[in-house]
Amino acid sequence: MAARQDAIARALAHFDSGAFRAHLAELVAVKSTSQDPGHEADVRDYLEAHIRPWLERMGFGVAVHDNPRAGFGPILTAERMEGAGLPTVLTYGHGDTVRGLEDQWRAGLDPWVLTEEGDLWYGRGSADNKGQHAVNLAALEAVLAARGGRIGFNVKLVLETSEERGSVGLRDFVATRAKELAADVLIASDGPRVMPEVPTITTGTRGTFHFDLVLKYRPGGVHSGHWGGLTRDPAVRMAHVLGAIMDANGKILVRDWLPRNGVPAVVRQVLAGCEVGGGGDSASIDDGWGEPGLTAAEKIYGWNSFIVLAMISGRPENPVNAVAPDARAHCQIRYTVDSDPATFEASLRRHLDENGFRDVAIENAGIRMPASRTDPHHPWVKWAVASMEATLGKRVQVIPNSSGGLPGDVFVDFLGVPLVWVPHSYNGCKQHGPDEHFLASNAREGIAAFAGMWWDLGEKAA
Ligand SMILES: [Zn+2]
Repeated sequence: MAARQDAIARALAHFDSGAFRAHLAELVAVKSTSQDPGHEADVRDYLEAHIRPWLERMGFGVAVHDNPRAGFGPILTAERMEGAGLPTVLTYGHGDTVRGLEDQWRAGLDPWVLTEEGDLWYGRGSADNKGQHAVNLAALEAVLAARGGRIGFNVKLVLETSEERGSVGLRDFVATRAKELAADVLIASDGPRVMPEVPTITTGTRGTFHFDLVLKYRPGGVHSGHWGGLTRDPAVRMAHVLGAIMDANGKILVRDWLPRNGVPAVVRQVLAGCEVGGGGDSASIDDGWGEPGLTAAEKIYGWNSFIVLAMISGRPENPVNAVAPDARAHCQIRYTVDSDPATFEASLRRHLDENGFRDVAIENAGIRMPASRTDPHHPWVKWAVASMEATLGKRVQVIPNSSGGLPGDVFVDFLGVPLVWVPHSYNGCKQHGPDEHFLASNAREGIAAFAGMWWDLGEKAA
């Protein structure tokens, strides 16, 4: 036990000395956005000049592969094998970030400079995902030192660089390398905890399904005086179409989209008493919005959501006196494994037809990221909960799937591994917008939790 404490103490000493923050600052300074063309070299540099040497120092064999899909970022794989009979952990991260949005950050902040303000460490990628994989690797380094270079298990790593473009290429990559990536479990970090102060394990992710709703009535706008009141207005029709899909209080009316038997008992059970929030001023949880009868946690972890990501009719920035020719809404469904996305388009078509909207077309419908879920009571999940609770002295909240997306399905489909995601961020971290930040207190708990888990894995083998 003293040795376990020693490993955790080493990880915390590294954190408290400022060395972890300095290292993260170097990682954040690499402008490795996959969303702005012109940064391909930075993305590769992140893997080759920053991650590779670090991993090699820890005894990993490292390779950087071209993405199987032309035009998308490279994928780093690494492995550190100690013995065939030992447990093998696969871990994952992404080295790419969303675009910098340099002009939108608060005065005094720069997306590519890690800036500390109290508990907040601002910087692009600080939370999504550089800070998160850096925490896990720094913890591993501390355990390696505490164990004199032999950790007692095998580690494999996949670090992709097109996650912020939908993990393009990852599925093909893992499919063709299933043997070399084979592992007993995936343990990795991304996304938010349920609440900033509540250590969380998520055993999957919701999927995303996108489609466009399109109303096209005429080639161009027609005079609003001579035609308004005579000819169909696509903006008004679109408002009613959306009203047929979701009521005024956020309840989805296309009931065939929803989990057929409601929220499964096992999901309801792990979510009992689970609070949601911690978003600060970024968004509020609105009472009475969404599916009636569900708790806030059940709404985002046990149910499906419908969101209009963007919509347009006419030109709002330059209106003219005309009935618009068309309207378009780009929509998203976030769904759990309890519903079948293969039926979404057909059920929507049927629902719209029944409600008198035969004139609206559904275009570009399809899955962007599939849903995944490991049984929240899986032995590996229980093991991880026990390890983290022993280290942190706090209850760990298990959620059946993250509300957001991650490519866990790829590892389930081709490697058959259970998913143990341990998010180190929180809902108010502003990832994907200006002023992204990481909470130092969460990072500190994360590094301790992972030092404990990496230590316990070595004991598990013995
Ligand atoms: Zn992201």
